Amino acid sequence: MSDAEDLHERARQRMVDNQIAYPLDSRPAVVNSNVIQAMRTVPRHEFVDQRYIEMAYADRPLPIGHGQTISQPYIVAYMTELLAVGKDDVVLEIGTGSGYQAAVLANMVKHVYSIEIVEPLAQQSKKVLNQLGYGNVTVKAGDGYLGWPEHAPFDGIIVTAAPDHVPQPLIDQLKPGGRLVVPVGPTWSTQKLMLLTKREDGGVDKENVMAVGFVPLVRE
Ligand code: SAH
Repeated sequence: MSDAEDLHERARQRMVDNQIAYPLDSRPAVVNSNVIQAMRTVPRHEFVDQRYIEMAYADRPLPIGHGQTISQPYIVAYMTELLAVGKDDVVLEIGTGSGYQAAVLANMVKHVYSIEIVEPLAQQSKKVLNQLGYGNVTVKAGDGYLGWPEHAPFDGIIVTAAPDHVPQPLIDQLKPGGRLVVPVGPTWSTQKLMLLTKREDGGVDKENVMAVGFVPLVRE
């Protein structure tokens, strides 16, 4: 391992210890061992703009161009834990962005489908995921509000941009027992992170989990 890689590796383990598994402040720890393992593994520094590489493992979101951001590591881990997915599951992500969240999920599930509305970001994330060998992620450019009916139903759906209401196509594309994690709220204010669970009878249970701040989900 090169010195630089060794530094990234140590920064990453510190990130997981101090921000996620044993937070130094009062936020709830993430306890799911598969999530922790994925966060320890995925090289976040490969997904950030090279201008911000020194901050790759810091406790904050970072710009990725086109007015978009890679989410704060803790939020990625927390939302992944809420999704409660396992190795046989197929997951849909709306808002590929850098591809980092997709890579975290790819470590835990069978396949990740991810949709990004900004074409150059879709291309860039595809390239990085490919270079890093994530063969179980499929990225496409498009409007994720509509989901990806060709691959539905999904065991879990995670939305990483904020719509002002829960998109009905995403609820429709969830398996019974499946979970949808989505930040909902008006544009450019804080949002409510919602966890929706589809019951076996097709009904939906809703839980308001915490306040979060995401970029808005935009429509084509
Ligand atoms: N999950 C990303 C975070 C990306 S930020 C990561 O790990 O880096 C949210 C992303 O959602 C942005 O890239 C934005 O372009 C995208 N987005 C916004 N509206 C969208 C829509 N309707 N469909 C798909 N992607 C959308």
